[in-house]
Amino acid sequence: MDTVTTRLCVVGGGPAGMMAGLLFARAGIAVTVLEKHADFLRDFRGDTIHPSTLDLMDELGFSERFRALPQRRVETFSGVVAGRSYRVADFSRLPTRNRFLSFMPQWDFLDFLAREAGQYPEFRLIRRTEARGLIEADGRVVGVRAEGPDGPLEIRSDLVLCADGRHSLMRAQAGFAPRTFGAPIDVMWFRLPRRDGDPEAAAGRFGPGRILITLDRGDTWQCAYVVPKGGDTAIRAKGLPAFRAAVGEIAPFLADRTGEIADWDAVKLLTVTVDRLERWHRPGLLCIGDAAHAMSPVGGVGINLAIQDAVAAANILVEPLRAGRLAEADLARVQARRMFPVRVTQGLQRVIQSRVIAASLEADAPFRAPLALRMLDRLPMLQALPARMIGMGVRPEHVRMPARA
Ligand SMILES: Cc1cc2nc3c(=O)[nH]c(=O)nc-3n(C[C@H](O)[C@H](O)[C@H](O)COP(=O)(O)OP(=O)(O)OC[C@H]3O[C@@H](n4cnc5c(N)ncnc54)[C@H](O)[C@@H]3O)c2cc1C
Repeated sequence: MDTVTTRLCVVGGGPAGMMAGLLFARAGIAVTVLEKHADFLRDFRGDTIHPSTLDLMDELGFSERFRALPQRRVETFSGVVAGRSYRVADFSRLPTRNRFLSFMPQWDFLDFLAREAGQYPEFRLIRRTEARGLIEADGRVVGVRAEGPDGPLEIRSDLVLCADGRHSLMRAQAGFAPRTFGAPIDVMWFRLPRRDGDPEAAAGRFGPGRILITLDRGDTWQCAYVVPKGGDTAIRAKGLPAFRAAVGEIAPFLADRTGEIADWDAVKLLTVTVDRLERWHRPGLLCIGDAAHAMSPVGGVGINLAIQDAVAAANILVEPLRAGRLAEADLARVQARRMFPVRVTQGLQRVIQSRVIAASLEADAPFRAPLALRMLDRLPMLQALPARMIGMGVRPEHVRMPARA
């Protein structure tokens, strides 16, 4: 069996894992990232690059190359009720260098991180290789067992960073089970063509018993149809024509093309989960990103938190790893730093899920815009608050360690 020896083994090449791999390699730490897929081309998992991440790209000196990638800038987000638009978030008021959200296919962003990380000799990305188990010695995790195209592989490392997403196998292997908070909603995702003359901005459309979020992806609209928990079964039972009609009713500009939803295979269900680990670490192992805390889609902040975790982990762990004196207390410092933003963000998401979203879904007659929407629209100063929560998050991280020459 092949064995790779490295300082850091990252399991999972999503936003958390790729950012962590890049930052540790940049600081001169030998990193091996395992990604089970051959490429980053997967289903839609969010295209948002937040202002705090854009600032990180600047801090890393990537601005010019990053800006050359195709992307769309969004400065505001609105809620639409009965055809009237209410501005909810205004990113142009943020105290960041980049005062907008960038929409870029996630695979382009991950490819970019992989290219940049590939400049450092300490970085290694092994694709088509799935971590299957942990290797332990003397009560400490000392590596992972994986399966690649050429057979089994062992990665021996000082630290295993589990960034393998919301269904993390590694955290289960470590004996961790997340604390799950109920979520009253699920999301049905699909795409429709975007045409000249369509409304410009990304928006959430509220109607009695339904909410539709439309995200501009250039030639398509990525649509999120929000339903009560488990509600997709009843919607599917009513048939596709009824679903198409419901979409056209809530977003009349899409009514002329809902026939493009050819069958139910074009509609993917996201079972909304909000969970988090109470303990993110064991000797030799740390969970970050969705593996430590799956976020609600409210606000679209999962990618941001995953990246922020990676930055905090690198800021705190590079030195002890380099010096060969990594202790569990160092891993606990990462959790202590990131748990607060996770708790606050999930708390807010849960309030919005139950007070605004679930309440709209329960309404069965035409209703007024929720008070929060009306207040935000009337008082533009307030629009900086949701912009801050979405665009920067709580306790935004900055790259603290210099690149190793
Ligand atoms: C439909 C949908 C829409 C979303 N929209 C948004 C949005 O608009 N904005 C936003 O901020 N967030 C959004 N999210 C959430 C966002 O995708 C996640 O919060 C974010 O991707 C978490 O990053 P991560 O790196 O922790 O995990 P992931 O992105 O899940 O990455 C985990 C990686 O690990 C790999 N992996 C898993 N197991 C193994 C293994 N055993 N061995 C090797 N590799 C493994 C996976 O292939 C994957 O590449 C959305 C999620 C979904 C599902």
